[in-house]
Amino acid sequence: MKLTGRYRVRVRHERRPATLPLVFALICCAAVFSAGCQSDDNRPQAAAPIAAGSLSGQNVLSVSYIDIGQGDSQLIQTPSGKNILIDTGAAEGRKALLGYLEQRGVRQLDLVIATHPHLDHVGNLPQVIDAYPVGEFLDSGLVTGSPAQERYLRALKEKRVKFTIVSRRGADTTRDLGDGITLTLLQPRAPLLSDTDSDPNNNSIVALLTSGKVRFLFTGDMEEDEREQRLYPSGDSIRAEIYKVAHHGSRNGTDDAFMERVQPQEAIISCGVRNDYGHPHPETLAALEK
Ligand SMILES: [Zn+2]
Repeated sequence: MKLTGRYRVRVRHERRPATLPLVFALICCAAVFSAGCQSDDNRPQAAAPIAAGSLSGQNVLSVSYIDIGQGDSQLIQTPSGKNILIDTGAAEGRKALLGYLEQRGVRQLDLVIATHPHLDHVGNLPQVIDAYPVGEFLDSGLVTGSPAQERYLRALKEKRVKFTIVSRRGADTTRDLGDGITLTLLQPRAPLLSDTDSDPNNNSIVALLTSGKVRFLFTGDMEEDEREQRLYPSGDSIRAEIYKVAHHGSRNGTDDAFMERVQPQEAIISCGVRNDYGHPHPETLAALEK
């Protein structure tokens, strides 16, 4: 990605005490900006796309927030060598995504998750499914009938990938990733939400990755309806040290009440330079700042 806007680069390394089972290192390798800001005082600033994790490759859980422009894609790599990919970004980020997977030594994807079937999340799914053996695929269960969704469903079928609908009653909502690491699928649940501002966004797969005392929250493009009608009443703990900011920093993805429940120490926004949506919105940045 060409960095042409105002931006801030942060490099941060964190090492947890030896009492934790794994060591985490966070490396913010790029930053995001927003166009149309006239002064430094109200300039949105947000760290995103981020590669997080030790690069030593030894006994370390690594979580990467991949720089694919306007969209989402995160790669989880466990010490035992499991690879989990959450979303794949849009076509404009294809080269960056496939190059990053190669760079990280990915040879197979044990789990691929499409949080919801919008192009900025599933735009490169057919290419990923074609390039790597996939152990299991997780889908929200929302059917849009869009060409993008039809393309990835066809690719999954051709490769005979195990297909799981997270919202199906009785679906297993926990994945043991080994090394004491678990992935819990918090949402969506049946019946799917309908007649919301955006049903695809509001039925996003929301997942919590837990390793010892450290938790990572992945939220897709969850909006207010999914938070308030489903996530809060479920009673599930959504406390997390690392928060992938919902819906690219949109004002309908994050507010003060949500931040009080999550209480993150680090937040990552994934959005494109001078994107058409004005992401990240100032209200989101204010809630994160608080
Ligand atoms: Zn999106």
